[in-house]
Amino acid sequence: MNILIINSGSSSIKYQLLNMPSAQIICAGIIERIGSIDAISSFTSNDHKIERTCTINNHREGLERITELLLDSEKGVIESTDNIDAIGHRVVHGGSTYTKTTLINDDVKKSIKKLSPLAPLHNPANLVGIEMAEAIFKNAQQVAVFDTAFHGTIPVKAKQYAIPLPLYDEKGVQAYGFHGTSHKYVSEKANAYLNNQKTNLIAIHLGNGCSITAIKNGKSIDHSMGFAPSNGLIMGTRSGDIDHSIIFYMVDNLGYSLSEINELLNKKSGMLGLTGYNDLRDIESQASNGNQKCMLALEMNAYRIKKYIGAYTAAMNGLDAIIFTAGIGENSSLMRKLVCQDMSHFNIVLDDAKNDLRAATIREVNTIDSKVKILVVPTNEELEIAQQVYQLLT
Ligand code: ADP
Repeated sequence: MNILIINSGSSSIKYQLLNMPSAQIICAGIIERIGSIDAISSFTSNDHKIERTCTINNHREGLERITELLLDSEKGVIESTDNIDAIGHRVVHGGSTYTKTTLINDDVKKSIKKLSPLAPLHNPANLVGIEMAEAIFKNAQQVAVFDTAFHGTIPVKAKQYAIPLPLYDEKGVQAYGFHGTSHKYVSEKANAYLNNQKTNLIAIHLGNGCSITAIKNGKSIDHSMGFAPSNGLIMGTRSGDIDHSIIFYMVDNLGYSLSEINELLNKKSGMLGLTGYNDLRDIESQASNGNQKCMLALEMNAYRIKKYIGAYTAAMNGLDAIIFTAGIGENSSLMRKLVCQDMSHFNIVLDDAKNDLRAATIREVNTIDSKVKILVVPTNEELEIAQQVYQLLT
């Protein structure tokens, strides 16, 4: 079965075509900087690599470009759009309705649209991706894989906010949880590595968005992102946890509008707001050259993660392994070091030499004496989505 995975972000579309169940990658690529005259489109198959800068005004044009690449008579990988059997769409917010991978119909699309206010950077883009894919790949089954689904197991005591009950009961104001596809994938890999399904794990996903999940016996029981993907850890441009009084102070005394604050907290805060840089590689290189703001931002970031590790160890009454994943978690030995230092009370002891090695597969970077394993697990959200789509359709 040929399954095309589409991951539409606010200004990008990542895609991957896989043959299942072999999990062979037929091609993969990304369209970045959608909405600009210098958008970048990349495409890699076994035989070809194409990268081009061009104008791509919107997601519609982005998906058209991807289709052209797939069908290209010289470098493409399929002869007709009918060669795609199914499309797996990453959808960020499925609310409390969708806790499982779901075949898309009109009701599902309406729900994704209705949930857009809860994930304004993501759900509208996800919906455009679905509608375009339906128009182009007419014979393919369209399936939604929700980021929130893995967190459907979080108990009420952890997902309800201490605000008047009708907001939870009637209006759906609660913590939902995100990055579920990644947390599920890496925790399953870790359980297989540990050869044990009854584990207490903490998965730390550190990419542009960052989140941390407590996973007991394979189930998410608590998670740092909440009602929207903005709570919790310090991210590339998002603040993570802040005292909500700051918002009222900014409106009442500093002249900000609510939409300005929304923009500020989601797009101008986090590591960018603290340092002027968004990409962690720049921040690390600045810090190593003596930039104090960058060093402090790295320490703040690690400190926040440590606090969540402490909280989740208490919530699970134990800890077998912590998992680092995604762009920063997999590649930044410095961030892993800052998080794990002075954690011997929790039996977390990093082996510096192992930590500095690089590898593309799952690896252990703790000392032999460390009771808690420290695992670096490469995430693969596309494969996880393909597996879920394949399971649903077969
Ligand atoms: P997304 O959330 O967009 O999928 P990624 O998982 O690709 O993000 O992670 C992007 C982040 O990973 C960026 O902040 C980038 O700086 C960081 N990153 C990638 N490679 C490295 C590296 N070698 N060292 C430190 N940080 C890295």
